[in-house]
Amino acid sequence: MTTHVSVVLFTADLRVHDHPPLRAALDAADAVVPLFVRDRAVEAAGFTAPNRAAFLDDCLADLDAALRERGGRLVVRSGDPVEEVCRVVTEADADEVHMSAGHSAFAARREERLRAALEASGRRLFVHDAVTVAVPPGVLTPASSDHFAVFTPYHRHWDRTPLRTVVGAPRRVPVPDEVTGEELPVPGATVEGTSPALPRGGESRARAQVTAYWRDGLDAYDDTRDDLGGDTTSRFSAALHFGTLSPVELIHRARRRGGTGAEAFVRQLAWRDFHRQVLAARPDSAHADYRTQHDRWRSPRAAGADIDAWREGRTGYPVIDAAMRQLREEGWMHNRARLLTASFLAKSLYVDWRIGAAHFLHWLVDGDLANNQLNWQWMAGTGTDTRPNRVLNPVTQGKKYDRDGTYIHRWVPELRGIGAPSVHEPWKLPGPDRAAVDYPEPVVDLGEGLDRFRRARGKQP
Ligand code: FAD
Repeated sequence: MTTHVSVVLFTADLRVHDHPPLRAALDAADAVVPLFVRDRAVEAAGFTAPNRAAFLDDCLADLDAALRERGGRLVVRSGDPVEEVCRVVTEADADEVHMSAGHSAFAARREERLRAALEASGRRLFVHDAVTVAVPPGVLTPASSDHFAVFTPYHRHWDRTPLRTVVGAPRRVPVPDEVTGEELPVPGATVEGTSPALPRGGESRARAQVTAYWRDGLDAYDDTRDDLGGDTTSRFSAALHFGTLSPVELIHRARRRGGTGAEAFVRQLAWRDFHRQVLAARPDSAHADYRTQHDRWRSPRAAGADIDAWREGRTGYPVIDAAMRQLREEGWMHNRARLLTASFLAKSLYVDWRIGAAHFLHWLVDGDLANNQLNWQWMAGTGTDTRPNRVLNPVTQGKKYDRDGTYIHRWVPELRGIGAPSVHEPWKLPGPDRAAVDYPEPVVDLGEGLDRFRRARGKQP
């Protein structure tokens, strides 16, 4: 009897639950090769920053364990993904390859090359949509354009779009013996340059996180998500980035739960899809202004000291410094803090958003081209924000979203003895109290920063 083998190429979908390519490959064949290729070109381009590299190792080890529980294993190779897939296809004598659709220019090129290479040897590539996003780019378009440039109308359509049903995890995953791979990474092994409090990756942890969040956090999400000190958002972002959680499954579950918390949470997931459809339609928006404001940013040389202070969390603005220190320590930052630190760099310091985005991409464990670059552009006013010149004031925002200073106290130990509201404006402390605190003076006067920004954008100060 001939054995039919399919290959499943895992990419940003490192899970066994709700995995349509894995299910389709199993349905089509007697055995499958679950394959992950470490793309050397991506590594050489510096995109695999240490935090994400360590998180990825956890995800791969966990995926391997889940496949072993089902009688299989994960095959890991390194090199060019197209060459490696073709090699594995030949070794396993496979008929077809299944994978999830990617939405970057890079993913499109990889898919095109892979399809051509497989077809040249009489094999077929099946690309499955709605695996790493809920509503794929291109599904929703306004009458006059190939993508939505404004979130609110996009969200209205997105919310009414039917989602595919969730696919259960397979019970058995038979893998042919003859295909071998590299040694798997040891989970939790130290990777140089990672954040000290980096979260651990992997589908089993992510699913446990969902269970806990459904029990303790989701219902209050809408009321508490901006509370910096409370730190009550889901922290699913890295799991969504690596695909250890399925956005489709999360949305179905949240909708079944219902209520204002679940609704607000689902709306945030729509932002992921929104940014992806922008990036898919305009791949250059990863680097170029989406809607230029003709900025002539301060040169990195002139702004060098300010940029360093921002990166290192010593701008003299406590909520900004807390956030920038959290980023280094955890490889993650609260959404409200991302907004504040991005506004501060791009607007109060008038520094090119690309400099900030690159720093975030280096540290963020959820660092994601679509979400990071387009959120940066949104906050810099070069993206999809319909109010591109709004500037967030770190003092008033700090008082509003970290009212009692819990967040600042957590990340800026120098200010621990100082209560709110003084902790938001330490420069206003009486002389002797100020002198007793080893904390920098503000790098910029907010009023002057605002004038500079408005002048640069051609607005009256
Ligand atoms: P929750 O509040 O629990 O939200 C649930 C999920 O919704 C998140 O996990 C995320 O997948 C999605 N989501 C929430 N807000 C947004 C948003 N504004 N845009 C897109 N998706 C969203 N998110 C990333 O995943 N990767 C990034 O590289 C990234 N860079 C950012 C840079 C800046 C300057 C800003 C302002 C935001 C950025 N975000 C990024 C979006 C957002 O801040 C994070 O997704 C969120 O803070 C992650 O925490 P959470 O999982 O607890 O979010």
